[in-house]
Amino acid sequence: MKITVLGSGTSHGVPFIACDCAVCTSTDPKDKRTRPSILIDLEPRTSNREPRFVLVDTTPDLRQQCLANHVTRVDAVLFTHAHADHITGFDDIRRFSQIQQMAMPCYGSEDMLNDLRRMFDYVFKPPKQQGGGLPQVTLTAVDAPFTLGGARIVPVPLLHGILPVLGYRVGSFAYLTDVSTIPETSWPLLDGVTTVVIDALRRRPHSTHFNIDQALDAVARIGATRAYFTHITHDLGHAGTSATLPPGVELSYDGLVIDVQ
Ligand SMILES: [Zn+2]
Ligand SMILES: [Zn+2]
Ligand SMILES: [Zn+2]
Repeated sequence: MKITVLGSGTSHGVPFIACDCAVCTSTDPKDKRTRPSILIDLEPRTSNREPRFVLVDTTPDLRQQCLANHVTRVDAVLFTHAHADHITGFDDIRRFSQIQQMAMPCYGSEDMLNDLRRMFDYVFKPPKQQGGGLPQVTLTAVDAPFTLGGARIVPVPLLHGILPVLGYRVGSFAYLTDVSTIPETSWPLLDGVTTVVIDALRRRPHSTHFNIDQALDAVARIGATRAYFTHITHDLGHAGTSATLPPGVELSYDGLVIDVQ
């Protein structure tokens, strides 16, 4: 399995609009962060596993992320929650439906999918006119493990402030973004996870996101040997922050590819 971090930034992206701080003006490409998303390639060694490419969230930067990372196929979309930084690229799914001649299977919690239907109501209502291209999608509510391309996908309930959101586990890998609390009942779902991409907004505490210390505690309790922080704000420069992290823990960056056995 191969994970591509399409976006590693917080909801604003980095640089922020109209900010001249050291990170926002940095020339290090790893300090340029689009909104948070990953692409999971379930089977890079052969091309016959289908579905194969699983996108997590459709950020406002989805189009640029696909262009930058040469994403030419998406077979399914998993949604974590319906905040703008995770869903407002939803319309760009059209391109993959078009190429692949299929309705895109989308998965999320029932509440999240209801928010999606409300926010993108033109997609789900009968068309008012011909010729306006609409995303072709199927929505499936998930609250228990399910199978995609032979892989077991485990939704992991998390709390983002008081908002219930979903992380996802695939094999020994877990993606846990927009989390400030991992509920006790979710810890067993993370047993045996060795590689994690996890929310770590900044050093200071925040009401709806892990900060670095909380993310480090979670990584230790999970027992992951490799951890990559995401949803990073402009407080954290890549090089300077990376130098302070313990072995096995890194800041992720846009375009990072992680091999998971
Ligand atoms: Zn977010
Ligand atoms: Zn800044
Ligand atoms: Zn959020």
